[in-house]
Amino acid sequence: MRALVTGGAGFIGSHLCERLLEIGYDVVCVDNFLTGSPGNIAHLVENRRFELIGCDLIRGVEVEGPVDAVLHFASPASPADYLRHPLATLRVGAEGTRHALELAAAKGARLVLASTSESYGDPQVHPQPESYWGNVNPVGPRSCYDESKRYAEALTAAYRRSRGTDAGIVRIFNTFGPRMRPGDGRVVPTLIRQALEGSPMTVTGDGSQSRSLCYIDDLVDGVLRMLKASIGGPVNLGNPHEVTMLELAQWIRRLTGSRSEIVLVPLPTDDPQRRRPDIALAAAELGWQPRTPVEDGLLRTIAWFVERVEDAGLPTMV
Ligand code: NAD
Repeated sequence: MRALVTGGAGFIGSHLCERLLEIGYDVVCVDNFLTGSPGNIAHLVENRRFELIGCDLIRGVEVEGPVDAVLHFASPASPADYLRHPLATLRVGAEGTRHALELAAAKGARLVLASTSESYGDPQVHPQPESYWGNVNPVGPRSCYDESKRYAEALTAAYRRSRGTDAGIVRIFNTFGPRMRPGDGRVVPTLIRQALEGSPMTVTGDGSQSRSLCYIDDLVDGVLRMLKASIGGPVNLGNPHEVTMLELAQWIRRLTGSRSEIVLVPLPTDDPQRRRPDIALAAAELGWQPRTPVEDGLLRTIAWFVERVEDAGLPTMV
C-alpha cells in the first residue's frame, strides 16, 4: 500500500507520515515548506519507504506508480500563518484540493480531506454536530481559511457525487502535540513557550472563550480510521473536553512550574467564543474517540518543548 500525504512536513502531516510508515505503508510526502519544516521529517528521510516531493500543490503534483491513499493536509493552519498567507491559503484549498482530488481519481485512491472546525465559524449551536452549517463571516480576516476549507469540502463532495471519487471529509478541532512551532501563534505552543521563557502568558479577551483540545496521537488514529472507511462524512474529530483559555493558561503554568504572570490581550476579529465537537458520528461510524487525557498530552508536549528550548540554549524555567 502506498499513501501520499500533502502537507506531510507539517505538524499533523509529519505524524501521519510516521504512523503510516509504522503500519506498513510506503509514504510519499508532498510539501512546499510554506509553514512546515524539513526538521519535522528529518527522522524519516533515511527510510527507503519514504519519499519527499518538494513542490507547491497549487501547481499540481506528478506521482509515478500506484497510490492507494491520498491524505490531503496541505494548508496553512494557524491564524498567524493564514493571516500572513491569505492568498496561498485560498489557493491551496481551491486549486490544491482539486489537484489532490484529480490525483486520487486518476489512481483510484481513497482521499481524506483535512477540513476544520473553522467551517462552523463562530458557532451558534453548541456543541457542534456535522449537521450544523456554521456561522462564517465570508469577508472577515479569517475567511481566507474558513471559506477555503468550506470550498474544499464542497469540491470533495462534488467529486464524490458526480465522479464517484472515494473521498471523505474530516473536520478537525484544535489539535496539539510535539512539532508545533513555538512561534506559530496557536494557543498551546504560545502558552507553553511563554511559560518556559518566564515571559507574560497572553490570554485573549477575558479568557472565557473555550476550545476543545485533542492530542495528536488520537487525531492520527481518527484520520486513519476515516481512511479505512468508505463514508464521505464530514465527520468531526476532536476531543470534547472543553477548557477556557484562562483555565488552559493556569493549567500550563502549573504543569511547567512557571511563575509567569497571565495577562489579557485584545481578542482577534471573529475569534469564535466556544468550540466543542459533537463526536457521536465518529463514535458510531469509525468506532473512534480520543483516549489521551488532555493533561497527559500537555505533559508530553511540554517535554518536547523543553528539549527544544534547551537545545537553543534558552533558560527553561523561571
Ligand atoms: P502545518 O502548517 O503545520 O502544516 C501544513 C503543511 O502544509 C505545511 O508543511 C506546509 O508547508 C504545507 N503546505 C501549505 N501549502 C502548501 C502547498 N501549496 N503545497 C504543498 N504544501 C503546502 O498545519 P497543521 O496544523 O499540521 O495542519 C494540517 C492540516 O490540518 C491543515 O489542512 C489544517 O487546515 C488541518 N487542521 C489542523 C488543525 C490543528 O489543530 N492543527 C485543526 C483543523 C484542521
